Amino acid sequence: MRLGAHMSTAGGTFRALERAAEYGMDACQIFTKNQRQWAAKPPPDDAVAAFRDKMGEVGIAPDALVAHASYLINLATPDDALWEKSTTSLGGELRACDALGVPSLVVHPGAHVGSGTEAGMARVVAAIDSIYGAADAPVAMTLLETTAGQGTTLGATLDELRVILAGVASPERVGVCLDTCHLFAAGYDFRAESDYRALVAQIDGTVGLDAVRAIHLNDSQHGLGSRKDRHAHIGEGEIGRDGFGWFLMDPRWRDLPGILETEKGDDGEGDRKNMATLRGLAAPAD
Ligand SMILES: [Zn+2]
Repeated sequence: MRLGAHMSTAGGTFRALERAAEYGMDACQIFTKNQRQWAAKPPPDDAVAAFRDKMGEVGIAPDALVAHASYLINLATPDDALWEKSTTSLGGELRACDALGVPSLVVHPGAHVGSGTEAGMARVVAAIDSIYGAADAPVAMTLLETTAGQGTTLGATLDELRVILAGVASPERVGVCLDTCHLFAAGYDFRAESDYRALVAQIDGTVGLDAVRAIHLNDSQHGLGSRKDRHAHIGEGEIGRDGFGWFLMDPRWRDLPGILETEKGDDGEGDRKNMATLRGLAAPAD
């Protein structure tokens, strides 16, 4: 796996790449805009140029870059106004990815807030179809993230993601981002090698291995099936080191960005520690 973390774009989008390189990362996740605001102006030309220049300089491969969409977006909502806003916003973020040269954007499938799973999934499909069916459709892929399943959120089962992928008109533009903390909190165990193998077989049998384009590497503060989304440092949560080792040693994920979304601590000590742990697990010394 190409290892990295979600990095701050404070001071300019290119600064995320600079920080990632400083920490010896081979992958990086960014926000394309302030994730707590709706406004999605395209990134200014100078910001795009600075980002693309830095990309060549630091040697992070373009396909090891991924963006994460705003947390305000809810594609599954039954509320028409919010659905419109969410769809427009996701389209804008995908176009920002195109400008920056980032190949994919991770988004949570959303919450149906009482309208039901089927209705919620149909709304997600409609949003994706409206974005990629447009005349000025973006090129960047949308990656639906697996979720812990809090409240009425979709994406806690691989089967829900399979249904959404099967429903969209342009399935080649849609993929999946696995999040280890969310999978575990949603009830998928992969701490033992046999369980990991069973999980991969399940991924293969639902969304398909090729749909997986990114992996979020987070340990979990809460137990298996807790449906609570609280990230922990690698090896310090309920998943433990072994569960990450299976993912890291699996050649099928070799070229994917593996992204930490854990506490950074002072001066990024959290990132440095977790990167060292992941590197150790990827190349066991025996
Ligand atoms: Zn995540």
